Amino acid sequence: MSERDLPRPPRGTFSPSTLDGELTHDLETLRRAGLYRTLRNVSHRSDATVLLEQRPAVDFGSNDYLGLAGDPRLAAAIEDFLTHESTGAAAARLISGNHPVHTQLEAELAEFKRTEAALLFASGYMANLGAIPALVGKRDVVYADALNHASLIDAVRLSRAESRVFPHNDLDALRRMLTEDAGTYRRRLIVVDGMFSMDGEVFPLDRLVPLAREFDAWTYVDDAHGTAVLGNDGRGAAEYCGVEGEIDVIMGTLGKALGSAGAFIAGSHALIDFMLHRARSFVFTTASPPALAIAAREALRIAQAEPWRRETLRANTRRLRQGLRTIGHPGEGADDSYIIPVLIGATDHTVRIGDLLRGTGYIVGAVRPPTVPMGTSRLRITVNAAHTPEQIDGLLDTLDTAFRAITEPALPSGMA
Ligand SMILES: *Cc1c(COP(=O)(O)O)cnc(C)c1O
Repeated sequence: MSERDLPRPPRGTFSPSTLDGELTHDLETLRRAGLYRTLRNVSHRSDATVLLEQRPAVDFGSNDYLGLAGDPRLAAAIEDFLTHESTGAAAARLISGNHPVHTQLEAELAEFKRTEAALLFASGYMANLGAIPALVGKRDVVYADALNHASLIDAVRLSRAESRVFPHNDLDALRRMLTEDAGTYRRRLIVVDGMFSMDGEVFPLDRLVPLAREFDAWTYVDDAHGTAVLGNDGRGAAEYCGVEGEIDVIMGTLGKALGSAGAFIAGSHALIDFMLHRARSFVFTTASPPALAIAAREALRIAQAEPWRRETLRANTRRLRQGLRTIGHPGEGADDSYIIPVLIGATDHTVRIGDLLRGTGYIVGAVRPPTVPMGTSRLRITVNAAHTPEQIDGLLDTLDTAFRAITEPALPSGMA
């Protein structure tokens, strides 16, 4: 009997469970709270411009800090490889999916981060989800900053270690917890973002390292936003804070400043060898396409060979932050932070400003719960090395208009 002959249910009799009804109800709740979201098509990325639903727009919402995601050199680097080798890796790294370019990229990342070794993961989310449960379990404790990225929160939950959350960037509170817990747990792991994705602040790693040493706790830094950007040579949050070689575990991503995709854990030989055996999101997943590793190698080369990208990023950051002060809506976070949150508060205002900007060809993040706490909705503006001064000034003009439109009381009806 061919597939065609198999009996099919008659049309119109699809009678699902209560699933659709319940989910529709939940979606309606989200819609009423202004939290309903939709996907928009973004294509033809080149420098800082894209097509947004077919119309030109300047992207101030990406994490493409060095402007490399649309760099033709990354595409050129993989073109030849794709012609002569496979697109898919076909298997997990430990079976038959380990291509030499994976290993080469790992060696280059370790050298770049000044660690002994590195191990690739398919994404930053998967790296955190694999690495943390490999390191800690039931008899252990994780100390986590209150603003840690969702993937870190999920990873700690998955590990089943005790989770102790300290107020954002508050090392005194962390010290009190470490003191209280003396002798209670087997292993102690302190987990923080290097640069926080929603407020743009850098964790004070220079003060964290001695504290961790004093209490014999291990340090885990998620350097998704710092890799290839922070520090004089872009080696990340550890370089920026002057603690290279002193962080036990570093997670870095390749999909942000390095313009490609994937992530890595970097640290000692022992750490990396252990991850290869015990990080389940490494062991039990197909290796990422080797072409992606080639693109990442090219991006890493460019990031080091073209330090002007970091200098331009800093100049662009200054220009945008200065302009925001001028229009009376200064950004939060440190002066040199290229993640610039502008607090709005109300979710509906934030969404309306985001819509107005989009309508005039500027993409900024309109960030709302659950990404940030209730009542702290904000615009998340990110700068990159590819933005021109004209694009930055254009955004500022449009922002100024949008802020006025939102905050000025509407004309009484009949007067408009
Ligand atoms: C983006 C991000 C991740 C996830 O990385 P992906 O490669 O996008 O999965 C993890 N941690 C932080 C802090 C991030 O900003």
